[in-house]
Formats: sequence, structure tokens, C-alpha cells
Amino acid sequence: MTVKTLVSPSVAALQPYVPGKPIDELAREIGFAECAIIKLASNESPLGPSPAALAAITGALTYSDLGRYPDGNGFALKKALSTHTGCSAECITLGNGSNDVLIQIAQAFIHPGDVAWYSDHAFAIYRLAVQQVGGAGVAIPATDYAHNLAHFQLAFSNSVPKVIFLANPNNPTGTWFTRSALVNLLEVTPETTLVVLDEAYCEYIEDPEYPDGIALLSHYPNLIVTRTFSKAYGLAGLRVGYAVSSPEIADYLNRVRQPFNVNTLGLLAAEHCLSDKTHLQKAIELNRQELAKMTTWAQRQGMSYIESNANFLTLELEQPAQVIFEKLLKKGVIVRPLQDYGMPNHLRVSIGLARENDSFCKRFENELTSMPGAE
Ligand SMILES: *Cc1c(COP(=O)(O)O)cnc(C)c1O
Repeated sequence: MTVKTLVSPSVAALQPYVPGKPIDELAREIGFAECAIIKLASNESPLGPSPAALAAITGALTYSDLGRYPDGNGFALKKALSTHTGCSAECITLGNGSNDVLIQIAQAFIHPGDVAWYSDHAFAIYRLAVQQVGGAGVAIPATDYAHNLAHFQLAFSNSVPKVIFLANPNNPTGTWFTRSALVNLLEVTPETTLVVLDEAYCEYIEDPEYPDGIALLSHYPNLIVTRTFSKAYGLAGLRVGYAVSSPEIADYLNRVRQPFNVNTLGLLAAEHCLSDKTHLQKAIELNRQELAKMTTWAQRQGMSYIESNANFLTLELEQPAQVIFEKLLKKGVIVRPLQDYGMPNHLRVSIGLARENDSFCKRFENELTSMPGAE
């Protein structure tokens, strides 16, 4: 009762983010061994971290490395990122995952009542980040589940937002937009509006029309590009992401950033995985093959799906996905139903190892044929 009167109204109104179910939790619930469970729910790389990253963090398991605070400025990682991105260290802000960077952006730039835009069916953290700081989030209508940047342009005739969040490719849809669509939007965006371009899955997409956000930074000082080590680099458990922006924006983000937000092992692993291009290419190649295989499988099943350019495939079922999600859980398969994204009939399946994907397909087919009403 008292707490209810104390909590900030914007926090009280938050719907908590629902993460993919952890393997050990399901193992406990259904009495399976953890190794018998297939998790294709959180878009992690099935190959995990590069051996170079693992060797670096194993070497750091010492009293002197872990007994002390991490480098709060992340000097070595920023130096490696500076080489990787071609931007100077003062343009980089490190995050405990890129999720942390998105929250920092909201904290630094969105005042209570400020308007922020994101697309319908966009990554859920944008809405949460905006709501947490008392901002007013506006969802811009999508087209066939994809961001429609022309709709963002049209919306300027009604209001000018403080921040626009864009995901390219987007999660949970796997859709993307071209360089020309992005540039068209940036050209009409006033300099008083910050554009956050979330490139969590950029490593997976190879289309020549796909824009490199970092290459656009010098033309658009109101642009902030965010990236992560959680997806193609396989470091999701270590929590490292970053933003690249003008030094001025980075300075403000670093003021709200917790002083030691990225831990010692995360810093080291991220630094070392950047130089292991072979491991990254292996993850990308595996994803390309397996995504193509899963897409062909969906076609053969006569199932609708959203064309994906990331490391997951979103299937459109002809029934609420929650039902089949729960049935699959009982078989030890964790995927992601998308009712929270306004897509109650969609199921997102992360691309795993070949045997994991095959196993998902088999169990999914069994479930569908055992559904009441199936022929
Ligand atoms: C996974 C994801 C992120 C961030 O993940 P972190 O682990 O916090 O770096 C950001 N944006 C999108 C669209 C994602 O899917």
C-alpha cells in the first residue's frame, strides 16, 4: 500500500520485459537434463565466444584481476573498437550490453513528457527505456511488420520527437531498411531530434544496400549507432555493447553511465573476440546456411514467415503461438511467442546449430499434426 504510493508513476506503469526462458529453469520444471533442452529463444550465437576470448578471460581468473574494479574507461576495449570502427575512442560509450546504452540514451536525453518514436513491432526495450524516464513513446505504423521510414517522415507533420529509435535489422521481425530509406529520413530529421540506429544484428546482413550506420556519423551529428557483442560475437552472457556517436553525445552518455558498468571479463572477452575474424565468419556462415534451410522448411510446410536477415526466423501460425510455445516447452524446446509485440500468432525461432534446428522442425511438425483440427 505504502510502496504503491511511493513508486514513480512511470515505473508503476511499466510492463516488465519478458526474456526467453532459461535452460536450467525449464530443466527443473519438466525434469529433463539441461543438455536435452534446445533453446532457440534469445538469438544467441550457437557457437558462443571465440576461443581467443575464452583464453583471455580464463587467463584473467586471478586474484589480482578479479579482486580489483574493472577499468571504468575501458581503455583497451575502446582502443580495439576504435580500430574496428574507424572512430576515435572519444566517440565510443560502453554498455553492459547495448541494452544499457539504450537506457543511458533515454536517461541523458529524454525528459518527462518528451516524445520518442519507434516502429510498431520494434525491439521492446525502446518502449521500456522511454517509459522509465517518463517519456511518451509513440509507435509508428509498420508495413508488413517492417519499419516503414516513410511513415516516420510523414509523422514530422504532427510533431517533432526528441529521439527516434530504429532497429536495422529489427528484432523480432528480422526486417531491415536500405541506406537510401535511412538517408531520406535523416535528411528531413531536425538536428534537435536524435536518431538511435540499433545495429545489434548488422554482422549477419550482407546486402549491398544495407547501410553502415557508422559511415553516416560524420554527416549526421544527431545520429547514435549502437552495437553489441551478444549476437554474432557470442558473448551474450558477458554483457557488452557500445554506442558510437559524436564526442559531444558520448560525453553526456558517459556522465549517466555507471562508472564500472562493464566488468573485467566482459571487457577482455570483447577486446579479444574483435580480432578473431575467423570465428565471426564461422558464425555468420553457419547462420546463412541454417537460416536458408529453416526458410525452405517453412515454405515446404506451407507456413507464412517474415523474410529474415538476422539470426532468427519469425513464423506466422494460423493460431495463437502461445499454445504451441507451451507444447514445445513440454518437449524441451524453448522458442519465443510474440504476443507482447502485438503479434499473437507469431513465433520467433533463433537459428541454432544444424541438429538443434532439425530437432525443432521435427518436434514442431509433430505438435502441429497432433493439434485438434489438424488434418
Ligand atoms: C539483442 C538485442 C539488443 C541488445 O542486446 P544486449 O545483449 O543488451 O547487447 C539490442 N537491440 C536488439 C534489436 C536486440 O535484438
